[in-house]
Amino acid sequence: TLILGIESSCDETAVALVRGDRSIVAQAVASQDADHRPFGGVVPELAARAHVEALTPMIERVLRDGGVRLADVDAIAATAGPGLIGGVMVGLVTAKALCLAAHKPLLAVNHLEGHALSPRLVDAELEFPYLLLLVSGGHCQLLAVEGVGRYRRLATTIDDAVGEAFDKTAKILGLGFPGGPAVERAAREGDARAVPLPRPMVGWPEPHFSFAGLKSAVLRAHATGNYGIPDLAASFQAAAVDCLVDRTQRALRSMPEAKALVVAGGVASNGIVRTALAGLAATHGTRFVAPPPWLCTDNAAMIAWAGAERLALGLVDGLDAPARPRWPLDPDAEIARGAGI
Ligand code: ATP
Ligand code: MG
Ligand code: FE
Repeated sequence: TLILGIESSCDETAVALVRGDRSIVAQAVASQDADHRPFGGVVPELAARAHVEALTPMIERVLRDGGVRLADVDAIAATAGPGLIGGVMVGLVTAKALCLAAHKPLLAVNHLEGHALSPRLVDAELEFPYLLLLVSGGHCQLLAVEGVGRYRRLATTIDDAVGEAFDKTAKILGLGFPGGPAVERAAREGDARAVPLPRPMVGWPEPHFSFAGLKSAVLRAHATGNYGIPDLAASFQAAAVDCLVDRTQRALRSMPEAKALVVAGGVASNGIVRTALAGLAATHGTRFVAPPPWLCTDNAAMIAWAGAERLALGLVDGLDAPARPRWPLDPDAEIARGAGI
């Protein structure tokens, strides 16, 4: 099978052609970083406009690069949420138009399912169930991945996502946008023990994460004028990693059936995060899988692959599939949270 994938939920326009045998035929990712940099964050209206301009030529180029025609494709997968609704609409409507014109089935993919299944694109041996640490710009969750479309949320953040904490810390330290890679770079020159910072939730019996207090502590430490930027960056990163490792260790203990510990999402491209989680998995005698960094940050190969997994199970969508700004992987957990749990 050959799947055309489209991703446009945030500030990357991406297109990929992926086969069911895990080969990536062609792909492209256009980052809008330069468009948003003057504003210090993603501006939804600018993002949607940039997706409109970039997407159609990119689809044509990826088809050309792959040496395939639209008629050769078995299905078209597009991110249908969660994300910035303008951008999601652009990708989803484009996919629907192509499906209609070329008589192809549509796969309306959850962006988070794209992240969650991305490790299986590069690791054919990775079996269900696995414990997933999903760490991105909008999410920080531990999920029991029991199968395609079967996700049980074990933990989530009670305030900021960890990627958001990296981005806000970068802003506080004047490191620019996007923040995650900038903090990682600055941290290389710094001492991770230089600045005393809290490790919110570490050791707590509740499974959840919290990062707002850590970010505020960075702000206060910076304001004292006593610390250099590299030391602040390194100390923040070390504290964030300690939080991720502690919470993940707790979840690993609660999920003995897990065949592997898996990390995915933009923050999983961070070298210190990867090393720390690999160490945790080794201590537990559990296999560790992290997709290559390019597959951690937003891309369309993961959307095409999630589409391939869904198509193999016959999970195709109608052309009336809605764009969903909010779309939890585990709706039961979201309902519980709404009830104050
Ligand atoms: P979501 O997937 O939750 O909808 P998103 O798609 O915007 O959010 P991703 O593209 O998956 O998020 O990840 C982007 C996030 O990853 C940003 O917060 C960014 O700062 C962070 N990030 C990227 N590279 C690194 C890095 N090297 N170190 C730390 N954080 C990073
Ligand atoms: Mg981005
Ligand atoms: Fe993402």
